[in-house]
Amino acid sequence: MPYKTPQEVLNAFHKIHETMRPNLEKMFIHVPKAKFEIRQTEAFRAASASAEYLQGTPDGSRPGVFYVPILDASKFNTTSGMESLFLHEAIPGHHYQISLQQEDTTLPKFRRFGGQNAYVEGWALYCESLGKELGLFTDPYQYMGALGDAGGRCGHAYRQNDKRRSNQIHDG
Ligand SMILES: [Zn+2]
Repeated sequence: MPYKTPQEVLNAFHKIHETMRPNLEKMFIHVPKAKFEIRQTEAFRAASASAEYLQGTPDGSRPGVFYVPILDASKFNTTSGMESLFLHEAIPGHHYQISLQQEDTTLPKFRRFGGQNAYVEGWALYCESLGKELGLFTDPYQYMGALGDAGGRCGHAYRQNDKRRSNQIHDG
């Protein structure tokens, strides 16, 4: 359904999180301590931004943030796979993996704070595939969007400029 305000778009992502929460708690015993937030991308950079995840600090002083650019809420593309986007960029995708890695003090620093891109993105892709098990993809449009995301990747997986996030994947 089309949205009227940016807050409605953000609420829709919160709802995705709420919907999966019971199954998430069953599937993931080991979860990050880091807090998580969903924010609208700041206006000054929204026009050129893709949805993205920005990791928090390991001491928890800054939360991990899932940023969503919303230029015009009424034109927000609801059928491009909001659920698969959230699974990939946010939970259990980049937020879980990157936060757990940062919080694991048994790892050497280069492993806590460095990123192996194939691993980071591989995990996020795997998370997209968990949609049904997590209680999502009940709306055929969301499932179609997820399949579209997956299909698009066959052509151009892992572009070289992936800044530990697959921005380009979510562009169109
Ligand atoms: Zn990614």
